[in-house]
Amino acid sequence: MHRIGFGTDIHRLVVGQPLMLGGVLIESDLGAEGHSDSDVLMHAAADAVLGSLALGDLGTHFPDNEERWRNAESSQFVRHAVVLIKEKGYSILNIDIVIHLEKPKLRPHIDEMRRNLAAALKIPVENVSIKAKTGESVDAIGERRAVSAEAVVLVSKI
Ligand SMILES: [Zn+2]
Repeated sequence: MHRIGFGTDIHRLVVGQPLMLGGVLIESDLGAEGHSDSDVLMHAAADAVLGSLALGDLGTHFPDNEERWRNAESSQFVRHAVVLIKEKGYSILNIDIVIHLEKPKLRPHIDEMRRNLAAALKIPVENVSIKAKTGESVDAIGERRAVSAEAVVLVSKI
């Protein structure tokens, strides 16, 4: 039995905040605004894992008004989502993610992000795909007002 999950996330880019993506601190003049460490890659991944078994969304499981999630490292959300699907007898086969960010270029950091996400998902790094796209200078991404990510995950009953 296979199931599929889809997740997205978007955060505003602002001055004076760190830019954390896939557990990697990216050198940038703009960072992601929000609760926790505002890691859109980890948020989209956790959302996709929850979605695979119709377990609701990130906000349901990690309310952003709860103090214990303030400045939380977002890989925790992914790890918790994995525990939830394992409890139902499922494991993750693979995940594919697209990050949308105008700059800086993320290519030098992709493999470290893949390793971090693979560790959080407890799957081999070969089963973790991360791609980065710019916004071609248009819309919120291209105008450097936001960073976003989309994730799709395949899970299987063990
Ligand atoms: Zn988020």
